[in-house]
Amino acid sequence: MLTDQDRIFTNLYGMYDRTLSGARSRGHWDGTAALIARGRDWIIDEMKKSGLRGRGGAGFPTGLKWSFMPKESDGRPHYLVINADESEPGTCKDREIMRHDPHTLIEGALIASFAMGAHASYIYIRGEYIREREALQAAIDEAYEAGLLGRNAARTGWDFDLYLHHGAGAYICGEETALLESLEGKKGMPRMKPPFPAGSGLYGCPTTVNNVESIAVVPTILRRGGDWFASFGRPNNAGTKIFAISGHVNHPCVVEESMSIGLRELLDRHCGGVRGGWDNLKAVIPGGSSVPLIPARICDEAILDFDWLREQHSAFGTAAVIVMDQSTDVIKAIWRLAKFYKHESCGQCTPCREGTGWMMRVMERLVTGEAEIEEIDMLFDVSKQVEGHTICALGDAAAWPIQGLIRHFRDEIEDRIKARKTGRLSAVAAE
Ligand code: SF4
Repeated sequence: MLTDQDRIFTNLYGMYDRTLSGARSRGHWDGTAALIARGRDWIIDEMKKSGLRGRGGAGFPTGLKWSFMPKESDGRPHYLVINADESEPGTCKDREIMRHDPHTLIEGALIASFAMGAHASYIYIRGEYIREREALQAAIDEAYEAGLLGRNAARTGWDFDLYLHHGAGAYICGEETALLESLEGKKGMPRMKPPFPAGSGLYGCPTTVNNVESIAVVPTILRRGGDWFASFGRPNNAGTKIFAISGHVNHPCVVEESMSIGLRELLDRHCGGVRGGWDNLKAVIPGGSSVPLIPARICDEAILDFDWLREQHSAFGTAAVIVMDQSTDVIKAIWRLAKFYKHESCGQCTPCREGTGWMMRVMERLVTGEAEIEEIDMLFDVSKQVEGHTICALGDAAAWPIQGLIRHFRDEIEDRIKARKTGRLSAVAAE
């Protein structure tokens, strides 16, 4: 169990002063210049040693990502772009950092930018996050006034500007290349990769895009050492992590815990357990709406980390745990997600544009049972044709929840179709 002394986010619930003086009293901005004085290579090595994997969903090693940036500038500026779009249903962790602990993010932005040779960084914040933007902007203004940003930021000898950019509320702008397009003032449509942002990103310049949590943990990792961070969780799944638990638990919450914590332990310790008791559990979506659900029968031994969930054909994603109890119409729940992805598709590539709508319409009929049994396999096939055949990961995000549903709840789908044919209403979806 993670102790309070090992929590990076000491004001996650906004109980304490979030201004600069409050942040300083909790240890932020402590010796920032000394960390930077140890040099770029030391910072990147320490990040690699920490084992931190990106907290935005993909789980790519952060130190390695930073090392892809060119060591020397070829004349083009370098940029760090911080993805604060956080639009995945169920995910609400970065907002707590931005509104309650913003200085650790700002300090992390300075250190990470220095490590990548960037004199400017942009935070792209989700359109709906208005209060969060205000809190973060107030913190940025404070940091400028205190000389922590701007020329010779925090007396590091590094000139550094940090800009906060407010999105307009499109889910797809959380995809890193769509985010860059949007930041450049264009329509938020994902770019083909390669070129990758480290070679040609914002305005065609070397860019790294990192999630809010990935950057906000940097100052503490460097102060306490990569080895300290790596001591939590299982190998290859290191560190502490913010979990956002919603749905049918007694007390939904956002909490920082150790990686690789057991699902049951997490729910019992922090959420007062599953509503109606553990045996009332039906399924869990472990990493935000785009990952396949896992059924209750494997939840007992479930470990929340990248590797364990991948072995179960699911994913750790953003660690947004959505709990569903026995009262859930799981077919309807997944249909709702299918409708979301259909709505948010940017329409640029055919498998996604056509596939998301097609899958949603079949899902609609599975909810009512007005379908043929053979359509279940057909839906699975189509989801496989969408997965991996699109420009960005939205195609996968639309396909995976449906695949998870079919993999684990085929009986329930078939039962509903048969019930509709025989007029047995108990198996039919609630209105
Ligand atoms: Fe747009 Fe979907 Fe293609 Fe992504 S996968 S680029 S959202 S159409």
